Amino acid sequence: MWRLLEKVDADLAERVRQQGCPECAGKLHVADYERKPRGGPDWDCRHSFCCAQEGCRRRQTPASVRFLGRRVYAGFIVVLVSAMMHGLKAARVRRIRELLGIEERTLERWRAWWLSTFAGSSFWKVERAQFMPSLCERSLPLSLCVRFDVEEDGRLVALLEFLAPITVASYLAM
Ligand SMILES: [Zn+2]
Repeated sequence: MWRLLEKVDADLAERVRQQGCPECAGKLHVADYERKPRGGPDWDCRHSFCCAQEGCRRRQTPASVRFLGRRVYAGFIVVLVSAMMHGLKAARVRRIRELLGIEERTLERWRAWWLSTFAGSSFWKVERAQFMPSLCERSLPLSLCVRFDVEEDGRLVALLEFLAPITVASYLAM
């Protein structure tokens, strides 16, 4: 699955590169971010571009299914761990947390992010209309995982692709 996520990110990046600079239509040069997500495989950069035009140099960072905003953890870990938290006994949550080396504070931040930032985002306000019957927002992101059937082959990737627009830093303050 990791290979597949890399491929999806490469495709998203290629689409951005081909469009060129949105500011001046200049050529885009590769200017990847060094980014090592914890809890994922050996990824060490996030695709990013920089306009080659002198005086513009605008940065363009494509959406990603591997990275969620500035979070250092791989996007799918953020989604899955946050989902797993729902309805689990405290001891179990602690074990998973320790296994992945995630601090309790971090986990609480992720949970708060899903429940307030994500649930209140303009992205979600538009997209939630496509879910019938409507999703339980209090159990996000578990309700999303269940609806996308993420335990089935390829479905987690589909969920991450759905979420990809919110990974662009300018779209949503993380
Ligand atoms: Zn430019």
